[in-house]
Amino acid sequence: MPELPEVEVTRLSLLPVLVGERVEKVLVREARFRLPVPTRRLRAGLVGRRVLELRRRSKYLLIDVEGAKTIIIHLGMSGRLRYLERAAEQESHEHVVFQLASGQDLRFRDPRRFGLVLIEKTDGLEDLPLMRHLGPEPLTDAFDDDTLFERARGRKAPIKSFLMDARVVVGVGNIYACEALFRSGIHPARAAGRVSRDRMRRLTQTVREVLSEAIAQGGTTLNDFASADGEPGYFVVRLAAYGREGEACLQCEAPIRRIVQSNRSTFYCTRCQR
Ligand SMILES: [Zn+2]
Repeated sequence: MPELPEVEVTRLSLLPVLVGERVEKVLVREARFRLPVPTRRLRAGLVGRRVLELRRRSKYLLIDVEGAKTIIIHLGMSGRLRYLERAAEQESHEHVVFQLASGQDLRFRDPRRFGLVLIEKTDGLEDLPLMRHLGPEPLTDAFDDDTLFERARGRKAPIKSFLMDARVVVGVGNIYACEALFRSGIHPARAAGRVSRDRMRRLTQTVREVLSEAIAQGGTTLNDFASADGEPGYFVVRLAAYGREGEACLQCEAPIRRIVQSNRSTFYCTRCQR
């Protein structure tokens, strides 16, 4: 599943080529996604309009266009956005194509169709049902240790589940949560409400580090989205804990242990993480 770093790298790679482009035509070959593609509204809102900005909120790509409209794209489980010459060969599952005045296409390919392509008014996007429950962006100042610490008061949920809760902070997937907890020395099963203020400060830093490293890594290997153990969508950051069950901890050489939390594998060091 595409994770936040992959969506951000998609945004960064499309930003310089897409802004200023004018949409000439919208082709919808298959409208049955997680929500149906609003073909008529897409055409009415886009044809003849220029792209003004490309933003991201959580794992949603937001393409602002003239006329105060925004295309909302979610890559779902298997979605990819590609910008290429109109003459480029059509691949299977290219369900939605934005033909641009420059002769390029923006093509949305999604074999499993868990993705989304929607159009809404630019004003008030944050109040849409898709967005209104979303917590702060991890790479902005809105994600700060004081807020995180206060939010965790009295919470008995394990810190790992707390960190992966989009209402608390968006975009911290399983691998990133494991690695950030390892780097912070926090046991993944510790109750969120029992993580000290200092450790919470360290945790906000390591979450940012892990995601930033993944984005930097993604920028250099744009097409290599799969990690070694088959959890696709994760750019391979230097994995110190995840996927290393039984191997020696890089800090203390104790064996890395695997447990299952909320049906997901958690890897941690029994000695370094308390
Ligand atoms: Zn260790």
